[in-house]
Amino acid sequence: MLFHSSLELIGNTPLVELSRIKIPNNNRIFAKLESYNPAGGVKDRTALHILQKAQKQGKLQKDSVVIEATAGNTGLGIAFVCLHFNIKAILVVPDKFSIEKQILIRSLGAEVINTPKELGMQGAIDKAKELLDSTPHSFSLCQFENPLNPEAHYLTTAKEIYADMRGVRDTNIRDFLGDLSTTHATSNDKKSSQIDLADEFCDDFKGYQAKNNLSNTDSSNSKIVSEKCGSSGKSQGSLLDINDRRDFSPLPHFSPQAELPKTPIFDYFVAGAGSGGSFSGIAKYLKEQDSRIQAVLCDPIGSVIGGGEKGCANIEGIGNNFIPKTMDTSLIDMVQKISDEQAYQGLRILAKEEGILSGISSGACLQACLKLAEQVENSLIVTLFADDLSRYLSKRIV
Ligand code: PMP
Repeated sequence: MLFHSSLELIGNTPLVELSRIKIPNNNRIFAKLESYNPAGGVKDRTALHILQKAQKQGKLQKDSVVIEATAGNTGLGIAFVCLHFNIKAILVVPDKFSIEKQILIRSLGAEVINTPKELGMQGAIDKAKELLDSTPHSFSLCQFENPLNPEAHYLTTAKEIYADMRGVRDTNIRDFLGDLSTTHATSNDKKSSQIDLADEFCDDFKGYQAKNNLSNTDSSNSKIVSEKCGSSGKSQGSLLDINDRRDFSPLPHFSPQAELPKTPIFDYFVAGAGSGGSFSGIAKYLKEQDSRIQAVLCDPIGSVIGGGEKGCANIEGIGNNFIPKTMDTSLIDMVQKISDEQAYQGLRILAKEEGILSGISSGACLQACLKLAEQVENSLIVTLFADDLSRYLSKRIV
């Protein structure tokens, strides 16, 4: 697959079923792997969407300076997009956050300013405001207030999830994979089994598409399947209007309830919230498609977003000591409170059992999904893994 710029790699990330861990009550869990974005996290989408809009509206010039308070991943997304737009970026990061992210931000050519960990995210926000006031031609994405933040996910992440989940209820990967995971196949055996699996899946999938009058680009149940079925994957074209060019399937808006399928294409969406942009944008889109889909907030113990006592949490990127304007709490159907230790344990399970190297907030989301799976049955649960494990190595969690 050919791309003409690394900027084009933002979005269209894989959605993967967790096929090896034990999940109670015949539930199934699917994870959207946002670490597959080029700067490694979910916030690449937000940075691209907001900065691209600002550029189109003439709000960014050559001498503009982008300044933002960030837990790191937003900073990485901003540094990455600013590099492509030839604009300076300064990121204000509380010093409790991962040193790896700060090094990566600097390696993309942006500047990092630290604020004391005791002041939390609010301390970084205050410092960024001070810098914005004193720097000529400064621009802030205002990720905690800007409606374009949830909109980035409403327009991209949510649509990808909804498209990829269509038809999944009719297939069960564990029926196919059961043999593969218990017999110790050689890598060649595995490859041919995977290809057989893909053939079967491909046939099932084509049958499903025919039945439901869907085109090939409507779904990508697995990478093997989409390659063999000829799905396009990432879109291509000129740099400036990447969002305009995105190859989203013509998704129906099921407005009258009568048009809805008998069962929703999946049942629960589980995610954490830092700014709340991804949770709110995705949950809003999904509920507009099908109001039966429930949104479950994975919230650190100590965060006030999902309620409960204010405290000190160490699940980087999610939870906050205030409720951001970009977080629409009316979309929350259920809250799963997760401790730091549960999140670390979740991250280890993902690495050791699933072979998915995801970050701490992903570990928390896995635990929230597993808690939910104890409470419901025969459900399809979709979650979002925001970034990858390598940026937390200095925390010595694994
Ligand atoms: N996980 C991690 C690791 C993050 O950095 C972020 C961004 N703060 C999130 C989850 C949540 O993203 P959002 O800002 O969209 O709520």
